[in-house]
Amino acid sequence: MKIKNNPQRVSFKAGLTPTIKAQAARYSAANIEHLFQKQGVNADFKNNRAIAYCCGIVNDIFETLTAKYKLPFGAKPPSLTVYHDWELINYNDTGCIGFCLPDSAKIISGKGVYETRSVFYNNEKMKTLTEMDALAEAQYNSGFNSTNHFLHTIIHEWVHNIHNDLLYRVFGYDGTCSKTLQRYNTFNGSYYDPNPYVSGVEHFRRMQLSRYTPEQREIIKKEISVYAAGRSVHSGYIQGGNPFELIAEAITKGVVDVLDPDTLTVTQNPFYQAGKHDQKLTDLVNNAWYNIAGG
Ligand SMILES: [Zn+2]
Repeated sequence: MKIKNNPQRVSFKAGLTPTIKAQAARYSAANIEHLFQKQGVNADFKNNRAIAYCCGIVNDIFETLTAKYKLPFGAKPPSLTVYHDWELINYNDTGCIGFCLPDSAKIISGKGVYETRSVFYNNEKMKTLTEMDALAEAQYNSGFNSTNHFLHTIIHEWVHNIHNDLLYRVFGYDGTCSKTLQRYNTFNGSYYDPNPYVSGVEHFRRMQLSRYTPEQREIIKKEISVYAAGRSVHSGYIQGGNPFELIAEAITKGVVDVLDPDTLTVTQNPFYQAGKHDQKLTDLVNNAWYNIAGG
């Protein structure tokens, strides 16, 4: 998409520099919506320039990871939407900062059905880059997020979209959304052969319910974040802590760690940082993509 920043570091706080702020001010939400439309992504930023700009940057980051580092991260969300809390209908995560639809659904009142893998960001909580910066800092300090970068939530949801795409490509999509069925119609079920074979939607459901052992949670909490490890909200209920959240938090951290702070471009392959993590964590993350062995 070619959203560029000029290197000129003045201060550094959670990745938001004056240079970045000045650069962001050059784009309107409509400019970036238009750039996305040209790439087949239906973007509706509701005049939220901060989220629009960050989505443009994150799109560039994943394009680089795909083209330059040959990582399988090319899937773009079918749509990017900025929402107001009060617009959500029957969605169990009201109050969250963002989410990615695991399957197509009607979730915003007055609108139609959104395609599977559509990504949504909360307009009230992220109105400006400064607000996104402060939010990321607070979420990091509370141990909730794996980084304090202002792009954290934008990347996190984008990773869910990539992960969901990989899963449906491997396991097939057997839900009811005609657009999603069309997208994954090349599936032949032969790539993985768990016995008995589990369809994409069922596999997805099991992964959402899957939780880590206390020992695994300790490793994830130490290296990634409390949310990725799973947070006990009340007796018997653990928020986060499934393979989806581990992937989203681990990849977000990996990507943020290799970003040039001034230009927000990728400086190296995030997976080639030898010895950076505990091998047990690496194994957990590798397994979390498809979760064949459970865990
Ligand atoms: Zn998530």
